[in-house]
Amino acid sequence: MTDKSTDPHCLFCKIVAEKVPAEVVASNDKAIAFRDLNPQAPTHVLVIPRRHGANAAESAEHGLMDALVSLAAEVAEEEGLTHGYRLVLNTGPDAGQAVFHTHLHLVGGRNLGWPPG
Ligand code: AMP
Ligand code: ZN
Repeated sequence: MTDKSTDPHCLFCKIVAEKVPAEVVASNDKAIAFRDLNPQAPTHVLVIPRRHGANAAESAEHGLMDALVSLAAEVAEEEGLTHGYRLVLNTGPDAGQAVFHTHLHLVGGRNLGWPPG
């Protein structure tokens, strides 16, 4: 598998391949960042690896989690999130994971409650 390997049935692989449109805000050779379709905060961006992995553990095996966090930090700076932000990796049914291509949620621009729902 290469860094560009894809799953033809995966929605986010289709976004990587530009077969499904998305509002991309940043990208590099390993990852892309685009706005969530259903934003939960003034800034809600998804950062995903170009290489398909079902969840964070799988993408960690691919050595791609650093790239996701670094790109998220770049977007946070571009978005002016100087008061902070949250990075979320929903994994599995209890966390409500709906898309099985690793995605790091970057949320910010409002006071975020804790504990999360
Ligand atoms: P999760 O529940 O962690 O799997 O989150 C999946 C996220 O993907 C949700 O926040 C959705 O709003 C978002 N989403 C689903 N389809 C799209 C899409 N085509 N473009 C952008 N975001 C999407
Ligand atoms: Zn995929």
